[in-house]
Amino acid sequence: MLKFMICNFDKTLFKAMELINSNVKGAVFIIGHDKKLCGILTDGDIRRALLEGHDLKTKVGEIVKGNFVYAKVTDTAEQVRAKMTKGIKIIPIVDKNFRVVDYVEDKKDFNFPIAAPDLKGNELKYLVDAFLSTRLSNKGEYIERFETGFADFCNCKHGVAVSNGTVALHLALTALNIGHGDEVIVPDLTFAATINAVLYCKATPVIVDIEKDGWCIDPGQIKKAITPRTKAIIPVHLYGQPCDMHSIMKIAKKNKLFVIEDCAEAHGAKFAGNPVGSIGDIGTFSFYGNKVITTGEGGMCVTNSRSLDEKLRLLRDHGMNKEKRYWHDVVGFNYRMTNLQASIGVAQLERIAKILESRKNIENKYKRQLKNIKFLEFQRDDLSNREKITWLVCALIKDGKKDICMAKLKDKGIDVRRFFYPLSAMDLYKPFTFSNKNSAKIAESGISFPTVYENVINIMIKDIRKILEKI
Ligand SMILES: *Cc1c(COP(=O)(O)O)cnc(C)c1O
Repeated sequence: MLKFMICNFDKTLFKAMELINSNVKGAVFIIGHDKKLCGILTDGDIRRALLEGHDLKTKVGEIVKGNFVYAKVTDTAEQVRAKMTKGIKIIPIVDKNFRVVDYVEDKKDFNFPIAAPDLKGNELKYLVDAFLSTRLSNKGEYIERFETGFADFCNCKHGVAVSNGTVALHLALTALNIGHGDEVIVPDLTFAATINAVLYCKATPVIVDIEKDGWCIDPGQIKKAITPRTKAIIPVHLYGQPCDMHSIMKIAKKNKLFVIEDCAEAHGAKFAGNPVGSIGDIGTFSFYGNKVITTGEGGMCVTNSRSLDEKLRLLRDHGMNKEKRYWHDVVGFNYRMTNLQASIGVAQLERIAKILESRKNIENKYKRQLKNIKFLEFQRDDLSNREKITWLVCALIKDGKKDICMAKLKDKGIDVRRFFYPLSAMDLYKPFTFSNKNSAKIAESGISFPTVYENVINIMIKDIRKILEKI
């Protein structure tokens, strides 16, 4: 949290000590009237000043030394690493105007993780507030605020907060009465939770291929896979890309199928102007730590149907009769979200537009810096009617070069990830395969890049460029 890292030079040592106590980093960056960085003060510096006769009313500017180590946003990761010699635990990063935009810490190596939550808003404040309210479980004002706020964000009437994105899928399938003997169509390229939720219901998943350009479920393959037993389709808006919802809804209407949109990776993406989650019968979201916004663990079902909303709520809370406590008419679950989680969610939701913009900026930085790498093909953002968002920055590495690129990047401490394995590639799910022509090829060449730290990510992208240029 950058604001606890920065201290004005005319503040007292007491104030600096307070900041150090709250940022838990052992240091603060000192700035002048012009907001430019002018020094670093550690808790050791303050201790020594007190021993030399200063007191806590001394101004920071009187004891801060002029020589200190910092990095520039234009530095490469290698240059930054070189500055982290022994004893230096934290280095501020400044822009061209010498304003502090971020910092790096002396981890074993200078790593950019694949994803990191952005918790710079009211998250801590609301979490403390929820804690102090003593409403730690499912009662408390933040649950309702998060549900209505997120449903609004999705342009939906109802939101039902749950413990994670996987149970959101299970709850949605159960609310639609899907069970033994029913078939549910899922894409071959997705996180396994999508198909697992179908299996929890004792229904039969039917795995179909994905589109070449969008990487999402192929409507043409859905059509072919339909049988008299087909009950539902779960389109997954993969890596932030909305599925072709126009074709999918047409097929669903014609064949009287339910549509559950798995939106775990696509908060805020739109198809023909409509937010994902608002197009099918139920949309499901995840708020796991690496998703667009997070509550630690968490999920949500959104819907425009009042009766589905009631069903989802009933099933989420043990299937217990609303009027008659401890009376059960259906087998329900405990899939509730806690007020603590929801408090973080409310704060995340306040800044979701900013978070999405920042992720998009990061993707654009990659595209600009790596445009001369010919074997790299970034995820499409020009498909008609589809407004993708950036979850992780994704690209295909062609010419069979993915493995060597991944190895070289990982070797430099850059946290790149392969795509999901196609479900049809795993013995566990293979028997449910209907078609899988494109998925294997895309899964085998796809990689995701660290999608973090907008202000300093260029430092690492330049390293990536150097490595890829040599391959
Ligand atoms: C993350 C994810 C899920 C599961 O969400 P959890 O909150 O981790 O249970 C489901 N589907 C997709 C496509 C996901 O990426």
